[in-house]
Amino acid sequence: MNGTTRSVSDRGRIMGKLIDLTGKRFGRLLVLARADNRGRRTMWRCRCVDGEERIIDGNHLRRGYTRSCGCFNREQAAARAFKHGHARVGQHSRAYRGWRYLLQRCRDPRNPNYGGREPTPVTVCEQWLVFANYYADTGDPPPGKTLDRIDPWGNYEPGNWKWSTHSEQVRNQRRYKPKPHHSKLEDIQRYAAALVRAASASI
Ligand SMILES: [Zn+2]
Repeated sequence: MNGTTRSVSDRGRIMGKLIDLTGKRFGRLLVLARADNRGRRTMWRCRCVDGEERIIDGNHLRRGYTRSCGCFNREQAAARAFKHGHARVGQHSRAYRGWRYLLQRCRDPRNPNYGGREPTPVTVCEQWLVFANYYADTGDPPPGKTLDRIDPWGNYEPGNWKWSTHSEQVRNQRRYKPKPHHSKLEDIQRYAAALVRAASASI
């Protein structure tokens, strides 16, 4: 094999038929350059977002079989293992039960305080749909408390949560329920005060 000249002319010839993937992105991978064929398979040198480089089959890239250096699958496996540490049969952790209950009531269109709230349902932010992310933000619930929102008209998301007892939550819901709009100054002031309390409590 005569290295450079040969591979350049091969590339020029073959690229006439094949799709050049250089510079294209597939999931977390960026295709850097064509690599040596493996048998009849066209291979590409790719760099993942974490800096790892891999030689990957072009068909696997284009069909979506390979979308990272392997880090995505490792992360998913870790998230599953983590979740199942909290979700062992017969002994779900309080954090896990709280999270499941949270998703359930926000997905229930018949629940007037959550999934069926008018005019807009209460939602859970996308990252908290993964238990590991939710747990990383909130941790274990203190005894007797469950996750509540600071602004009851907002959604469940980082920056709008606090731990409350059940009666505190009910009181909060009652107080805000009759008013579909909370643009009155006193409500804004109350919300601001709640934010300040939450911020100082977390220090
Ligand atoms: Zn990677």
